[in-house]
Amino acid sequence: MSDCIFCKIINRELPSTIVYEDDQVLAFRDINPAAPIHVLVIPKRHCANILDPATVEAGLPAALFKAVAQVAAKEGLEERGFRTVVNYGRDAGEAVPHLHLHVIGGRALGWPPG
Ligand code: 5GP
Ligand code: ZN
Repeated sequence: MSDCIFCKIINRELPSTIVYEDDQVLAFRDINPAAPIHVLVIPKRHCANILDPATVEAGLPAALFKAVAQVAAKEGLEERGFRTVVNYGRDAGEAVPHLHLHVIGGRALGWPPG
């Protein structure tokens, strides 16, 4: 997707701070962090959102969850905890139409979300 900002980050056309990478997934720091640690985990192949059928193809959910675990370990979040969120649509405030899992931690997080 030539006009997708996350595809541009994957292709190194836009800068990012990469935390983890493998053949299917890239994880990088959110530009506007909601907590001391805020990492986005995205598929390298463009998927629009969690309802896009491409999201559940070719082992991608497993690769995304494996990457979340890698990020949690690298960021030292395993003991104190963290939250993983996927926003979809207007009510959730989804802003970027390339599937992304937020990994948020480093402080106590309120529940339920506002
Ligand atoms: P959403 O609201 O769609 O679930 O989350 C989109 C996230 O992407 C937001 O937390 C926002 O700060 C982040 N974001 C938007 N543009 C960029 C960017 O160019 N670089 C990085 N690193 N994060 C971005
Ligand atoms: Zn994309």
